[in-house]
Amino acid sequence: MASRLAPTRSVLLIEAEDFAGYHATGRSAAFWQESYGGPDVQPLTSASERMLAQPDAGFSERSFLAERGALVIGQQQDAEQVADFIRTFSQRDVAVARVDRAEMECRVQGFRPEWTEAAAEPSCRDIDVAALHQAYLASAARAGAKLLTHARVIAAHYDGSLWHIVTTQGEIMAPMVLNAAGAWGDDVARIFGARPVGLQPLRRTMVQLRLNADVPATLPLIAHVGGDFYFKGAGEGRIWLSPHDETPTDPCDVSPEEMDVALAIDRFQAVVDWPIAAVERKWAGLRTFAPDRLPVFGADPDVPSFIWCVGQGGFGIQTAPAISALLAGQLGVPIDDDAIAAVDPTPYSPKRFW
Ligand SMILES: Cc1cc2nc3c(=O)[nH]c(=O)nc-3n(C[C@H](O)[C@H](O)[C@H](O)COP(=O)(O)OP(=O)(O)OC[C@H]3O[C@@H](n4cnc5c(N)ncnc54)[C@H](O)[C@@H]3O)c2cc1C
Repeated sequence: MASRLAPTRSVLLIEAEDFAGYHATGRSAAFWQESYGGPDVQPLTSASERMLAQPDAGFSERSFLAERGALVIGQQQDAEQVADFIRTFSQRDVAVARVDRAEMECRVQGFRPEWTEAAAEPSCRDIDVAALHQAYLASAARAGAKLLTHARVIAAHYDGSLWHIVTTQGEIMAPMVLNAAGAWGDDVARIFGARPVGLQPLRRTMVQLRLNADVPATLPLIAHVGGDFYFKGAGEGRIWLSPHDETPTDPCDVSPEEMDVALAIDRFQAVVDWPIAAVERKWAGLRTFAPDRLPVFGADPDVPSFIWCVGQGGFGIQTAPAISALLAGQLGVPIDDDAIAAVDPTPYSPKRFW
């Protein structure tokens, strides 16, 4: 949003931590998958593709996406769920196709015999999240935006034309405030006198494993159709793995729990027969959802000049181009991308909670 607004407005990014991206944004699994988040999030993800794959000249010289592909898998009892997945997303022009066991074995050697159902989603790609985030910050800075770090917003009041915002680095005045506080979105709303929308941060664990198996770096994203795990290649002989955990947590600097790491490994070992050499890294982050699991962006219906941009759950990176363009559009910045302009933002408005 800072990058979209800075060319026409004076923008100050207020960040509580010492650097931007310390929380959810710096902890993602870094993939772009059109089906991820479900059919009501998919329009935002699909519409973001062009900007991620072929960024505008001047924003970035290179693509933020790299080939990956996904296999959504299940066992015999999941066959109907896999079929439903294919039906749902084919109807939405996402390329998904059934893959039988023989083809699963061709694509990935080592699946245990009970994994017989699969759908391929070839458009799934990796996002270079660090490069994308830096490109947004750099573009905002070039347009004059300032970043104030180590500054937590602690109080605010509106005098009828300006917000007076008290931070741990002093007071700031602004005619408009945009709440992009992730897991703290409802806390920040309360500070500005806005009604919380019911955000729930959910802990998600990630583990990097080194394997004693010949696993290519290009291993597709392999995701359980029922949402029990996903893993993808992360360099020769390595994978990133998640048990797809969703533990409700208060907003905090979250760390991984040993039980979730063990659960991840247990689920992984039930899928493939690759021996594990080492747990090289583990981390956790908060994915923050509104009650209907759709993002929340738009002007607050009651509080003047208070704009929401929260609830991006597990899809905030892959939808960032579309969400920011649609929200900036509501604030008067023309949308210069036809695919994004075609997305109806109504389902994502905070007004749905009023
Ligand atoms: C493990 C994991 C895997 C994920 N994988 C993917 C993926 O593969 N693809 C994808 O698209 N998405 C993924 N996501 C989701 C994505 O990371 C988030 O949707 C996105 O990063 C949310 O961005 P944000 O800026 O809203 O939140 P954050 O990055 O958390 O930023 C919010 C910021 O607000 C600041 N803040 C809060 N309160 C205050 C205050 N009072 N004053 C000042 N500053 C404040 C915080 O310090 C924080 O830096 C994943 C998330 C996790 C945790």
